[in-house]
Amino acid sequence: MKQLFAIFGNPVSHSKSPLMHNLAFQGLGVDACYTRYLLNDGKHLRKKFFDLGLKGINITVPHKEHAYEACDMLDSFAKKVGAVNTIVEKEGKLYGYNTDAPGFLRAISTFKDAKSVLFLGAGGTAQSTAVILKDAGYRVTVTNRSAGRLERFIEAGFETYTFDTFKPQAYDLIINMTSAGLEDNELPAPKEMLDPLILNSKACIDVIYGKETPFLSLAKTYGKPTKDGSDMLLYQGIIAFEYFTQHRFNSKEIEVYMKQAFIF
Ligand code: NDP
Repeated sequence: MKQLFAIFGNPVSHSKSPLMHNLAFQGLGVDACYTRYLLNDGKHLRKKFFDLGLKGINITVPHKEHAYEACDMLDSFAKKVGAVNTIVEKEGKLYGYNTDAPGFLRAISTFKDAKSVLFLGAGGTAQSTAVILKDAGYRVTVTNRSAGRLERFIEAGFETYTFDTFKPQAYDLIINMTSAGLEDNELPAPKEMLDPLILNSKACIDVIYGKETPFLSLAKTYGKPTKDGSDMLLYQGIIAFEYFTQHRFNSKEIEVYMKQAFIF
């Protein structure tokens, strides 16, 4: 029987995930289909999953914490970071995973000699990626415009600053983890703070994809290598696909088809 998958989010119309997964299902001969579902209230996530007869879902903004709550079983990393972006149904139980963070880790692995990273922003994406990077041996410093979201980073032992308390050092990678530049034309931090950081960095990275953000434009004026969020999106999708298909395919096979979504 054809298996049905979906992405749950609000908004969800912009998501590339249906195209990515359907290209891979088709290319690898899997009898499955992936659609999108606008979920207004995250509390209904579990019921909707079963009502729609789904085999698996990805979850995007703002429901990753609700997805965490909806699962019967969590893998150890999802449990540690409290956010789930991939759910698979097995024998009536929901299994939750976080593929955003390993996707990001893989995306930055091209910067081989990078050891220290500065996060601009302290939201949900920053939280899971900070943990995986720290576990992988990076020195992670987090700076955010306001103090509230830094609390859980402090509890987890990260070096944190607001923009007001920030004491500049040299970092190998400067990473925009905020949504600044997504729907506006803003930099993620004041330009006078960013200029010396970018100048002393090896490369600049943005988790936003599909456009050149003001942050990456600024980095280019300094001649720095840049990377947007497309690889993170691709790799989190490949890891989710591995879970959806119970690891029947390896990541290289999946990538061949899934990356075709990025040429449209
Ligand atoms: P959250 O809403 O959890 O956090 C937003 C963060 O951005 C906060 O730290 C907030 O600061 C900061 N922020 C927002 N606007 C500004 C601004 N104008 N100037 C400075 N700081 C600002 O968001 P997420 O963590 O869920 O998402 C962050 C980004 O990651 C988004 O752009 C999203 O699209 C992207 N993303 C990309 C993925 C990919 O696959 N490439 C996957 C997942 C997310 P404050 O605390 O002060 O409000």
